[in-house]
Amino acid sequence: MFLCLDEFWQTAILKNMRFADIIGQDDIKRHLIGTVKENRISHAQMFLGREGYGTLPLAIAYAQYINCQHRTDSDSCGECPSCRQISQLAFPDLHFVFPVPATGSSKEKPVSDTFFGKWSEFIRQNPYGSYQQWLDFVDAGNSQGLIRVDESSEIIRKLTMKTFNAEYKIMIIWLPEKMNADASNKLLKLIEEPYPKTLFVLVAENSENIISTIISRTQIVRVPRIADADLRAGLQRVKGMGGTDAEKISHISEGDFNKALEYSSQAADLSQNLDMFIKLMRVSYSFKAPDMIALADELGALGREKQKAFLTYCERMIRENLIMNRNLNSLTRFTNDEGNFAQKFSRFIHPQNSGLIIEAIDKAYYHISRNASAKIVFMDTIITLARCLRMPA
Ligand SMILES: [Zn+2]
Repeated sequence: MFLCLDEFWQTAILKNMRFADIIGQDDIKRHLIGTVKENRISHAQMFLGREGYGTLPLAIAYAQYINCQHRTDSDSCGECPSCRQISQLAFPDLHFVFPVPATGSSKEKPVSDTFFGKWSEFIRQNPYGSYQQWLDFVDAGNSQGLIRVDESSEIIRKLTMKTFNAEYKIMIIWLPEKMNADASNKLLKLIEEPYPKTLFVLVAENSENIISTIISRTQIVRVPRIADADLRAGLQRVKGMGGTDAEKISHISEGDFNKALEYSSQAADLSQNLDMFIKLMRVSYSFKAPDMIALADELGALGREKQKAFLTYCERMIRENLIMNRNLNSLTRFTNDEGNFAQKFSRFIHPQNSGLIIEAIDKAYYHISRNASAKIVFMDTIITLARCLRMPA
């Protein structure tokens, strides 16, 4: 089922899963390496932060470091059989649990293993990917991804199997916030009564939706945003991007490599998106029906991926304009052209309407992802915008 190494890495965004391959995060890497060197690996840990900060690739690099046969003081070797297998997600003692949808042939009791082939492809393409990207990747349609109670039985089964030859058996649970209550309670028992030489790494974005008893029994590793300089270097290394473009994109990506990748794939579209954003705001504000209809048609005729990218762009622009409106100019992250427009425009985006506008954009994104008629969705959005932009500050 697995390709040979060279083929595997050809399309991979990270060429290996050594710490050195992960973008930035030197403090976290040092901390994790320290736990291994000082022999104080906590058996249940929660890496907490946005996916784009690298929580999942850090978890995999940690697993690789722990099981590497020739690890050094600073990294795994990347070459030994364990390293090679882990980088290919084919290490028999590294298990993954992640939310899966109940769709198509997997309607009955879907578990992570049902989707493992897709999962490994997804991680290879982008280990910084988000929950929504994962659902899109498996064509989940309207189905939500969940970690169901059947998964907990699978976890128990896997952990009771003898280890192959690993130092540690490692279970990475991606997005435990998507566990239902039954699954959480079963998992809790496992965390409370750990199996020997077994390590749970929960990779979570938002601890609010995880039951407190799980949180209190895990050691939290807070993964912060990636420093701009590291993001820039990462874009140059991974995407082969020139220094100026990498600089521009790292500046607007809020320390999130997944966002940086998204922006870099649209680098040519950045100015086009700005033009369209300006038009959208102008037409909405003017509230002239023929212009509104023409614009909804124009936006509706773009490809779906472009529409989604544009909406993501709009959301960022609204947030940045709000920051400027609050006179926090030093915190804004604009390109020069965006900044020039915002000088005049930001007075229209304020706390009274920004939440409503972002909600409308999110809603549009949701419906477009689910193949609703884009013209109707955009018309609806323009009308909401027209109303919001006219609200008094
Ligand atoms: Zn190794």
